[in-house]
Amino acid sequence: MTTVKTNSGRLKVELVRGNIANQPDMDAVVNAANASLLPGSGVAGAIHRAAGPGLEEECRGLAPIAPGEAVITNAHRLPNEYVIHCLGPVYGQDEPSDQLLASCYRQALQLADDKKLSSVAFPAISTGVFGYPVAPAARVAFLTLLDVADHLRWVKHIRFVLFTEDDLALHEQVLEALLNQ
Ligand code: ADP
Repeated sequence: MTTVKTNSGRLKVELVRGNIANQPDMDAVVNAANASLLPGSGVAGAIHRAAGPGLEEECRGLAPIAPGEAVITNAHRLPNEYVIHCLGPVYGQDEPSDQLLASCYRQALQLADDKKLSSVAFPAISTGVFGYPVAPAARVAFLTLLDVADHLRWVKHIRFVLFTEDDLALHEQVLEALLNQ
């Protein structure tokens, strides 16, 4: 667990290996969504499977979303209060990829803060089917987090849930390098 000092106190940043659909202690989990907000593979599949058909129904009214955009829904059968759906950029196609990816993290954190949530768990958005290399994506995620940290009034705990041991190790390296700059 890393602690980042902010204007309004401290922000816990935690990196774990796990399943984004099994984070019962977090107020919100983030979905690496597709534009139509439908179940799909990877993170979106896991979240929709665990949330049940009510999530798909609620999502229908909000789709489509654009790359870099985030929307918030109830969590239905998931053990959280909310799901925040982000559409990451397809690497090499949605440009500028880094700015669109940063926009996902910024918008997701803003939505969580607007709802006065204290904890949010993220997957590594865009690094699966969308092909964004993991280390550069992690750098964008952490830089965005450090950039917005001072503006967050309610969010105090951010968890990155990585699917593999390799992705976890890469995220640890990137965060450490940024904090030791
Ligand atoms: P995208 O379409 O944004 O690339 P994916 O869902 O394909 O989203 O993958 C995003 C990242 O999440 C990948 O690194 C993938 O290995 C990882 N991942 C897949 N399933 C899960 C899960 N259940 N929990 C956490 N991470 C997951």
